[in-house]
Parts: sequence; structure tokens; C-alpha cells
Amino acid sequence: MAFTLKTEAFVTLATNDRYAYGALALGQSLRNSATTRQLAVVVTAQVTQAMRRQLTMVYDHIQQVDPLDSHDTAHLALLARPELGITFSKIHCWTLTQYTKCVFLDADCLVIKNVDELFEREEFSAAPDVGWPDCFNSGVFVFRPSDETHRGLLQCAVTQGSFDGMVLQAFSDLILKQAMGLAIGRFGNDVRIVHFIGMAKPWLYSYNVNTGHLQPPEGIGSQHDEELIKRWWSILHLKSNQELNTNRPRFQLR
Ligand code: UDP
Ligand code: MN
Repeated sequence: MAFTLKTEAFVTLATNDRYAYGALALGQSLRNSATTRQLAVVVTAQVTQAMRRQLTMVYDHIQQVDPLDSHDTAHLALLARPELGITFSKIHCWTLTQYTKCVFLDADCLVIKNVDELFEREEFSAAPDVGWPDCFNSGVFVFRPSDETHRGLLQCAVTQGSFDGMVLQAFSDLILKQAMGLAIGRFGNDVRIVHFIGMAKPWLYSYNVNTGHLQPPEGIGSQHDEELIKRWWSILHLKSNQELNTNRPRFQLR
């Protein structure tokens, strides 16, 4: 059996089935990169059982978190700030204390080449963002699960109102190499992680595997390199065509 390190994991988050398709493609891309680390996905109750079965084919561990935890002050404050809900869920990744170190990847990321060396970085490491005024992009970062940090982050999220802004305080290093979907031409072979930021998520495109025809999402348009979107689709398709039996995920857009 191949060497695996059980104490370290790549972690992603999906609060619904649409993002879970992203998690599926991301997880499969990590497997394709021959990672020696565990794969964990954090989900909320909205992710369906059918989708969880798909996720267990790729991920070692599925952790359900409660986005609206009952009695604490964080919960009460968040009820008044519903826009923080998704942010709140990302913070729950710090509860994965069965691992000593994790690399978080947004569900809209795709790993092109092995990135296990990210585990040599310390908490908190992240990549610079392309747009002002963000100082870093919270789509890829290195962290150490800890109940104490988790509590502190929740508190900060509530009082300061922003996950990114808050984490800046703990943030020490701008080091990860990350490329946004649009920048691929410039960085070419150096790119190891692609992050499909913005509205045009890969799962919103229509892709016909037989003809190779790609249709950008209606009303949004294409925002990413077409070859990268096709790559995303081919990875998802390979993993899930038996159960999905379609070249397009079935889901209802909100
Ligand atoms: N996310 C989620 N459900 C949502 C929105 C976001 O699970 O409804 C998670 C998912 O892991 C996603 C991440 O939060 O990749 C950040 O959101 P997104 O990628 O949409 O933001 P962007 O990278 O475009 O700024
Ligand atoms: Mn993202």
C-alpha cells in the first residue's frame, strides 16, 4: 500500500449539492495528483444523502457541521448577520482536530499538480489576492485545527464581521502559488492550483462530453479559460458518470 499520512488532510467545504460537485472534482483532482494526505470534506445538512455517497467515493472523511449552532453568543450575533453564514461554515474547519495540520481549498479549486509540499508551511499561510483591497485570497490556506482557535475565530467573525479581515491578524505569510482561472496563459506550466473565482463556476457551464461543446452559464457568461473548464468537467465525469448518468449535474438553481 502507498504511504499515507493520517494526521494531515486537504479540507474543503460544501454547504449544498452545487458546491459539492465542486468538491467532487477537487477531491478527484487531488487523488490524481497522488497526494499522500487524507481528504476531508465539511458539509452542512443541506447536502443530500445521494451526494454524500458520491463524496465518500473520493473523500476519506465527511464531517457534518451545524451552521447555526444553538446557544452560544456567536449564534445569536450571526442571526442578525445572515450574510456571514457561509463564512461561518469555513471557520468550522478548525474543528477537525483529528488532524494536526490541514490545507483548505475552496470547492471551486482544481489541483493540477501535486501540492503536498504546502504542508511544510505553517498556520496561517495563504496566497495574495488579485484585487484591491483584499490582502490575500481565502480560497487556499494552511491551518492547524484547534478548538481554541475555532472559538476565537467565531468571536472575531461576529465582532469584526469578516472572516478575511479577521484572519489577517493571524496571517503572517504570502507564499502559496495560486492561479485564478483567467491567468492560466501567463503562468502556464507552473500552475498547480486553479481557483475558479466569481460567478461562473464550472458546474454552471453546460458541457457535452461527446461533442466537446461548452456553453457558458446563462446570464453570467464565460469568465474562465475554456480548456480549464473542460478539464474540470472531464475529471468530474470520470468519477461520477455511473451514478449521475448524465454529462450535467442535476440540480435546481436558486
Ligand atoms: N461555499 C459553499 N456554499 C456556498 C458558497 C460557498 O459551500 O453557497 C464554500 C465553497 O467551498 C466555496 C467557498 O465557500 O468554494 C467560497 O465561496 P466561493 O468559492 O463561491 O467564493 P469565490 O472564490 O468566488 O470568492
Ligand atoms: Mn472560491
